[in-house]
Amino acid sequence: MKLQVIGDPVLHSKSPVLHGAMLAALGLDVPYTAHVVRRGELPDYLAWAQKNGVTGFNATMPHKEDLIPLLDGIDPSAQAIGAVNTVCLRDGKWVGFNTDGAGAVTALGEGLGFDPAGLTVTLLGAGGAAKAVALALVEAGAERVFVCNRTPERAAALCALDGLGRLIPAAFDPDTLARRTAQSRLLVNCTNLGMAGCPGQFEEFSFLDALPPDAGVFDLIYHPAETELLAQARRRGLSTLNGLPMLVNQAVLALEHFLNRPLNRRAMAEAATAALHQI
Ligand code: NAP
Repeated sequence: MKLQVIGDPVLHSKSPVLHGAMLAALGLDVPYTAHVVRRGELPDYLAWAQKNGVTGFNATMPHKEDLIPLLDGIDPSAQAIGAVNTVCLRDGKWVGFNTDGAGAVTALGEGLGFDPAGLTVTLLGAGGAAKAVALALVEAGAERVFVCNRTPERAAALCALDGLGRLIPAAFDPDTLARRTAQSRLLVNCTNLGMAGCPGQFEEFSFLDALPPDAGVFDLIYHPAETELLAQARRRGLSTLNGLPMLVNQAVLALEHFLNRPLNRRAMAEAATAALHQI
């Protein structure tokens, strides 16, 4: 058994540390390594992996969507998102999953004490991560999710993925954001704004003032550990959560798929988190 993470770039990925720590905690001597696979190389990689004893891999940029037509089977929630981050070899067939959304919902529960059931949420962004998180939120019972995005067509396309009208497209200007946050208990940032190494930043944060005092702010970004959005929310007395617990929980769920058995999720998350703090 061999496990990998593939992507381009991929050498910065924290997956080898997370999975290495969890496999060690389970007493399993299974290698988990990062492997550069460029766009267009996926068919060759899948053939090579199968011949060389790779039984599962995680996928990051730019492969999450490109893998879909190349796999033998796709889990329904990954199919709905149109992207996979976890692929397993089952009876000689490649099967894809997406653990990002469920990882985010688990992180919200454990880190902020938020159960999405019945909640109204303002979600910023409409890219790959936003899709996974928005669909997981409504699957977990969120009543409404306002999907606010700079490019309106992408927000509309994301919202069309939910046939029940629980995802509602919205604009990204300060007035719209403030109107939406005034109706929400939870704000989730799924944009790149505030991420280290990315040029963009929120122009202003007055939309945080409209949130109710018991609202939570969840930023998917984990580098830096506290984005300007989270710092501004904390100064306003709101509870905050960064993207690290989501990263850890999506890895725990991926490992359950790789090993094809349930794990003690809390113990796995603790082992993975401890390893991350050591690097
Ligand atoms: P993506 O598909 O490229 O989507 C990026 C999103 O950010 C889009 O909605 C884009 O809006 C928006 N955006 C970018 N620059 C902007 C700007 N200057 N002003 C307004 N909006 C802007 O990226 P992704 O894969 O979804 O990742 C998004 C973030 O989530 C990244 O920071 C990533 O690190 C993080 N993430 C974290 C985890 C975790 O486990 N914690 C997992 C996955 C992703 P347009 O549609 O208008 O371009």
